[in-house]
Amino acid sequence: MFDSHILVNLTYVVAAILFIVGLKMMAHPRSAVRGNLLSSIAMLIAVLVTAYMIMADGDATWAGWLLIILGLAIGGAIGAIMAIKVEMTQMPQLVALFNGLGGGASVLVAGAQLIGMPETEATPDIMLAIGLSGLIGTVTFWGSLVAFGKLQEIDFFERPLPIPSPQAINAVIAVVSLILLIVMMAAGVGWPYLVIFLLATILGFTLVMPIGGADMPVVIALLNSYSGLAAAATGFVIDNNVLIISGSLVGASGIILTQIMCKAMNRSLVNVLFGTMQASSGPAGSDEEIYANVRSTSAEDIAMILDTAQRVVFVPGYGLAVAQAQHAVRDLANLLRDKGIEVEYAIHPVAGRMPGHMNVLLAEADVPYEQLKEMDEINPTMGQVDVAIVIGANDVVNPLANTDPNSPISGMPIIEVDKARTVIVIKRSLSPGFAKIPNPLFAAENTLMFFSDGKKGVLDIVNAVKEL
Ligand code: NDP
Repeated sequence: MFDSHILVNLTYVVAAILFIVGLKMMAHPRSAVRGNLLSSIAMLIAVLVTAYMIMADGDATWAGWLLIILGLAIGGAIGAIMAIKVEMTQMPQLVALFNGLGGGASVLVAGAQLIGMPETEATPDIMLAIGLSGLIGTVTFWGSLVAFGKLQEIDFFERPLPIPSPQAINAVIAVVSLILLIVMMAAGVGWPYLVIFLLATILGFTLVMPIGGADMPVVIALLNSYSGLAAAATGFVIDNNVLIISGSLVGASGIILTQIMCKAMNRSLVNVLFGTMQASSGPAGSDEEIYANVRSTSAEDIAMILDTAQRVVFVPGYGLAVAQAQHAVRDLANLLRDKGIEVEYAIHPVAGRMPGHMNVLLAEADVPYEQLKEMDEINPTMGQVDVAIVIGANDVVNPLANTDPNSPISGMPIIEVDKARTVIVIKRSLSPGFAKIPNPLFAAENTLMFFSDGKKGVLDIVNAVKEL
């Protein structure tokens, strides 16, 4: 007799292979879109097969099916509307929300499993999986909401916590949660789940609220990993192999990304998680003093400077995404290349508001991948650059990271544009970036400020170069 569970598990294996191949393809801009599509198809297969299994087992009543279909329709519609409506610059916030909702879903599924669970099924392994899903999922949910608030620059989430030592609270919560997990496993009782949920809610806030400035990319990668771990734990709870596999993949890739982000920023994970947010006091001196020698320039002057250059490096930052200047920058780069000028792009690992933000933007404008240079590769050659054009970047080129130990970005490696012969900074004003600190680069001797919207400014330079 044919066993439908074998077919289901075989299809899960196919979905898992497609997930892994899709992930691999996402590692390169050229194949990333196809990788994304492949992974989406894998997820569709997993959903359909799970629905088939529920049907084959006769597990769902008609009311259950109605709920599943309603959930798919409402969730799908909200997802589609958000994906279409959300601006490219709000993508990081959307990703933070997705992480959080993934964690929240794990908490609900694991919690639902506890309701009416027969005593015989409350084995230690299942109770451990339920407890972990609740703990990690809840931290992910609230932590991601805080991350969302910080990325959205909502004032409340940018303040330090009004408690003296969040680390001590975190340690106490961690120990109590561990004890509650043991109680759940040993006694097979469900009530500690509720307490774990409440404690993990506090933990979500106390873990993420104190983190800010340059450390946010690490937190986002870590929360992404947590959402995967919560899903994997839930996979054990409901005995679903594809959820265990996909959750583990998200968990592992999130941890790898966290590691990459820590390394790129010269920080240890312990330091990020247990250090406290530095007050953004900035360097000594008022903004007026720091910016006393700022010199501004025009598109025509920049065109003349570029006319004599041999090597030009573009340094994109968050403002490039806000201005949607990527196509204009590519046009300017092409124009300069036609004149025989060597053009490259210097990519800082945390430029923008999500890992890989600049790569995605520039790939959208079909900038050849070979022209993108990582920070470590470009920095040693910065001294030979004639003109560095910084477009909407601020923190990632701020020399205070090297010179001010009290700065929130202290120790973060920067793109060393200050070593280039001439630095042109295109932004709208002297206002600070994400870390909310002034930037002495804007007043450096070799820097010229071009106060403009990123896209308009670059288009003006394109016209000025053409008119030379
Ligand atoms: P910053 O946030 O430091 O600076 C962006 C600059 O863009 C602003 O100073 C702003 O100046 C300018 N800008 C805004 N709109 C426009 C526009 N329309 N045209 C031109 N300029 C514009 O960006 P960076 O990329 O340098 O640094 C990223 C920061 O974000 C780092 O501190 C990083 O730690 C943090 N972060 C990064 C994450 C990641 O994963 N990559 C996640 C979370 C935080 P003005 O208003 O004067 O125009």
